[in-house]
Amino acid sequence: MAVRKTASSTPAGEPSVAIVARQAVRGLTPYAQGKSSVEGHFESIKLSSNESPLGPSPDAIAAYHEAAKRLFRYPDGGQKALRKAIAEIHGLGSAQIVCGNGSEELQLLLVRAFVTPGEEVICSEHSFAMGRTHAKSQGATIITAPEAQMRADADAILSRLSKKTRMIMLASPNNPVGDYMRRDELARLVAGVPKDVVIIYDGAYADYVDASDYDDGLLLPRQSPNVVVTRTFSKLYGLAGLRIGWMCADPSVVAAVEPIRTPFNTNAAALAAAEAAVLDVGYAAMVKAHNSKWLSKITEALRSIGYDVPPSVANFYLIRFDATGAFTAEAAAEFLLKRGIIPRPVGAGGPAGCLRITVGLEHENEAVIEALREFRASCARNRTA
Ligand SMILES: *Cc1c(COP(=O)(O)O)cnc(C)c1O
Repeated sequence: MAVRKTASSTPAGEPSVAIVARQAVRGLTPYAQGKSSVEGHFESIKLSSNESPLGPSPDAIAAYHEAAKRLFRYPDGGQKALRKAIAEIHGLGSAQIVCGNGSEELQLLLVRAFVTPGEEVICSEHSFAMGRTHAKSQGATIITAPEAQMRADADAILSRLSKKTRMIMLASPNNPVGDYMRRDELARLVAGVPKDVVIIYDGAYADYVDASDYDDGLLLPRQSPNVVVTRTFSKLYGLAGLRIGWMCADPSVVAAVEPIRTPFNTNAAALAAAEAAVLDVGYAAMVKAHNSKWLSKITEALRSIGYDVPPSVANFYLIRFDATGAFTAEAAAEFLLKRGIIPRPVGAGGPAGCLRITVGLEHENEAVIEALREFRASCARNRTA
């Protein structure tokens, strides 16, 4: 094992040695979670992590409490009830579904199952940060495909294929922009990728999308077994705290992942709550309608004030600021934080000069619009002064 002498010393005063991680793991940085409180504000408005402001379905909460009565039991390692519920609601086969400790874990399992160190993983620019970290830690070479139009771009990905490409990761809608790849472009991507290259199509925000030219990809694995769709209960279903997601894949992909999935990766409370949540289609529709209504209201309001807000179909929106001067993302974030409003931290892996803000409750959204109106006005004053 590689060891390295450090300047620090043990309590006994002897020089200590640091244990050095594998090459692929060195230099990785821990995930930067959205801030959850502001000093001096008892009830801050947390809009930094795309959580559902409406919380989970009451049925999910009831199922969670019910699960408390059986905490001494191991969960169902086969995840049968939840797989069946997801299959039923989405018109899929149970054998296509695997649930994970968040969709994030499923991306890790897919990387471990398919990527050999030294192979290439093409990550679309605004794909999920953790997927990229998992691929790096596996020893893969990350090739970034730019998103010139602020969404995953088939040609940018296809032109980066090489003999070493083993996996492609993209999110649609993406994060932190919120735009989506059009159906025909997704079809062109899938058609142009060799059949042994695994495509992870991350649909964390698919539940929010209405656009008729959006494809949630769930039917793709039937014709193209190399396509895997990951989904989550963390966003629209309001269960981020329980850590539960799922993937839809060809049975051969399921067979590759199952042996390396820890048998109890999804806990009993999460399985029960997610099952109730997915079956409560009325509640999900209500959450989706709240989001659609507020996303368009906020976008319109901010654009009319003079903000540059690229199109989003997810549960968040991105705002672009100047690189220098008074009207920067840093200044805007500071202005919002003073009012107890928490946007996604600037520089947490997203595009420079932007803020990402989650759609919240009515009064939260109105507070954001009002604060940003004031911020814009204060910048205009400074400019003329
Ligand atoms: C929030 C998010 C997820 C969800 O991850 P979980 O592990 O299921 O909570 C996945 N992908 C993207 C792009 C996200 O923004």
